Amino acid sequence: MDVLPSFLCGRWVNGGDQTAPLVDPTTGDEIVRISTTAVDTQPALAYARKHGSAALRGMNFAQRGQLLANIAARLAARRDAWNRTLLVNMGATARDTAMDIEGAIQTLRYYAGLGAALGAATMVIEPGQDILTRAGNEKGAHIWTPVGGVAIHINAFNFPSWGLWGKVAVAFLSGVPVLTKPGAATSLLAWEMVREVVPILPDGALSLLMASGRGLVDAAEPQDVIAFTGSDATARTLRSSPAILGGGVRLNIEADSLNSIVLGLDVRRDDPLFDRFCDEVAQETVIKSGQKCTAARRVLVPEAMVGSVTEALAARLANVVTGNPRNAAVELGPVVSRQQQVAIHQGIAALEEETVAAFVGLDTPVDADPQVGCFVPAHLLVCQDSRTARRIHEEEIFGPVATVIGYRDPADAAALVRRGRGSLIASVFSDDSAQGRKIVEAIAPWHGRVLFVDEAIAADHTGHGLVLPQSNHGGPGRAGGGEELGGLRGMRLYHQRTALQGSVSFLRDIGEQAAEATF
Ligand code: NAP
Repeated sequence: MDVLPSFLCGRWVNGGDQTAPLVDPTTGDEIVRISTTAVDTQPALAYARKHGSAALRGMNFAQRGQLLANIAARLAARRDAWNRTLLVNMGATARDTAMDIEGAIQTLRYYAGLGAALGAATMVIEPGQDILTRAGNEKGAHIWTPVGGVAIHINAFNFPSWGLWGKVAVAFLSGVPVLTKPGAATSLLAWEMVREVVPILPDGALSLLMASGRGLVDAAEPQDVIAFTGSDATARTLRSSPAILGGGVRLNIEADSLNSIVLGLDVRRDDPLFDRFCDEVAQETVIKSGQKCTAARRVLVPEAMVGSVTEALAARLANVVTGNPRNAAVELGPVVSRQQQVAIHQGIAALEEETVAAFVGLDTPVDADPQVGCFVPAHLLVCQDSRTARRIHEEEIFGPVATVIGYRDPADAAALVRRGRGSLIASVFSDDSAQGRKIVEAIAPWHGRVLFVDEAIAADHTGHGLVLPQSNHGGPGRAGGGEELGGLRGMRLYHQRTALQGSVSFLRDIGEQAAEATF
């Protein structure tokens, strides 16, 4: 069977003797093989620095924005093909697929628009300049210029499209070439998409590593930037690379997160907000079979509401059809691999001492063999004693599993949320803005994003788990400490801020050439 080649040094190259199969997680059929051999990436990085960086830095922001728009158009034209690949390689339902593929296209378009707005400049100057001498002849400003190296992107398996293009959009708009390493288990889609797009890109702008990532970080140089998305365990390995410890290479980490969703004390059983909250939790549990870094894992509700919430959630989850995503009625497909299936069951077992199972879906997937497919039924757990429970705040179960946790008062809710030691996102559903403000203030330092849902947006909000290109993505502490997207803010990673001091006329000239913006 074919082994998917890498795209390095401007050409497709086969890599290594060690290979592994990509398998359809619904049917168990082998689809294609990938290389698992470690590759010397230094020549590819040197090629990208020389050719890709020169080409992208030779373009202004508007031209780079146009390049992103062209990529988006090329991807949008083949949506059906990508949907089919995700179904086969990941067991994704139509809804799961839309999040990954539309998410990528919309993010590329959004950054294309930012490029158009930044216009014909190639550097950014911050608003405001200071006079630095008594005579008033010298001024100081702050400029941002792109790093001269390569953006090395190491992605997780769960968003093979959005994870790839969201990062590429920001790096390309910044003028920085990319070497991307997709998560192995779902790398077929990344491979197909890169093959589709490479013909319209400048030479060296995009390289694709279809092999092991071992040694990749060690090969980085000081003007390179690494953006990693994946588990806390891998993040620790990358952090200990000599390139990071002593080599001065920037490393942005998006890692595990035990995100919370909180029902306010003010919400009653018959309030519409109660139903919206339960809809959101059920959706968060099921979508992408729970393989979403932003999924709401911890469901915090007032102690008196634990019974009502559990009952309402169990009723919703009981209606979820699990099985072969080729059947249009299916909402919960398999998880990506046998390995993930085993890890999820181990995670559930680890929570057994602290929780009781309030709901477990049927182990009879439609149109599929449960012995062959990697199915995990939806699980709703309830924490027995929130004062003593520990593992519910530590174990990230990357599957369709949520835990309901009772809290006493808003201070207790905030304290429990913070026990996740830093998360990507927390949502609060409440119509009490005074209490809401207090909770938001108490938890914001521990999160990269907070969503507050009151009646005004309850029927039509963006959602707990959806990452928008306008908003910061990333979280402190356990979530890795990284930041991505967030409009222009995302470009900070790929730029150097320099305090520029000089004559009034020199700074005026610079200011006329640069785009004025705040990163
Ligand atoms: P993972 O096992 O940590 O792998 C992530 C990536 O790192 C993969 O491309 C992997 O390659 C690569 N990798 C592993 N060891 C490496 C090494 N020594 N050097 C360089 N690269 C290396 O994570 P995963 O299982 O793919 O993804 C699930 C995890 O990602 C979950 O914990 C989830 O919370 C997290 N995640 C976080 C975010 C976020 O934005 N915060 C988003 C999505 C997922 P191989 O695949 O070839 O092993």
